[in-house]
Amino acid sequence: MTFDQFDLHGKVAIITGCNTGLGQGIAVGLAEAGADIAGVYRSDPGETKKQVESLGRRFVGIKADLSSIEPVNDIVMQTVDAFSKADILINNAGIIRRCEALEFSEKDWDKVLNVNLKVLFFLSQAVARQYVEQGTGGKIINIASMLSYQGGILISSYTASKSGVLGLTRTLANEWAKHNINVNAIAPGYMITNNTEPLRKDKQRYESITARIPAGRWGKPEDLKGPAVFLASDASSYVQGFTIAVDGGWLAR
Ligand code: NAP
Repeated sequence: MTFDQFDLHGKVAIITGCNTGLGQGIAVGLAEAGADIAGVYRSDPGETKKQVESLGRRFVGIKADLSSIEPVNDIVMQTVDAFSKADILINNAGIIRRCEALEFSEKDWDKVLNVNLKVLFFLSQAVARQYVEQGTGGKIINIASMLSYQGGILISSYTASKSGVLGLTRTLANEWAKHNINVNAIAPGYMITNNTEPLRKDKQRYESITARIPAGRWGKPEDLKGPAVFLASDASSYVQGFTIAVDGGWLAR
């Protein structure tokens, strides 16, 4: 075993939601390991592009609204046009809506399920078809959540979607392992991004959550770099269908 197994030089990674937060941290982490980046974005990905290119890697932006499956084939086509292939998919884009279950609207249910689960599945399908056509296999890494394991409160559609991501990760791994495709997931704990801003603004909840994290702090996007590089690289070739928690010990408690 050598550290060469973690090397991503010559690999092409598609990352959704690459402009900010965890997607940006993962994009930069994969680029540090050598990968070129097809960055799928809705809001300006300029900062991510700058950081990736400063590492000597290529960044090609692909603008897409992932609230429907309409752009999924185009994302693969644009990646292949730019880089001639794809090797890694990071399904990171996601949204959350907070509301009492008694009041939860169909609109907020559909919005969250569409981005977090339906588009994740159909983009994975489109990329997996490309891997099969290339004859190379490849990696798919889904971003799950603590809400893949726990119920949470006020976030019915988010919990349903992220619990679905964990199950989908298993079933796709089962079906696609024979094509040399590894499907795994990362379940981040409580991380400092736009997604958790309302939680962090609520002083009481912020303090009670912080007190329950064995590491004693919230996570940062950089904390996902190592696990993402591992799952994107040859080092994890025999890891299939598993969701790795990167949570400062939250689930262990
Ligand atoms: P974030 O800063 O809000 O980032 C979410 C990303 O998804 C943004 O790039 C956003 O684009 C993109 N996105 C959302 N809806 C989209 C759409 N319809 N079309 C295209 N892009 C869309 O939050 P984050 O924490 O980094 O979240 C990244 C992933 O981690 C999500 O799946 C989230 O559920 C998951 N996660 C986060 C935490 C946490 O504590 N932060 C914990 C567990 C899991 P815009 O910038 O244009 O909105």
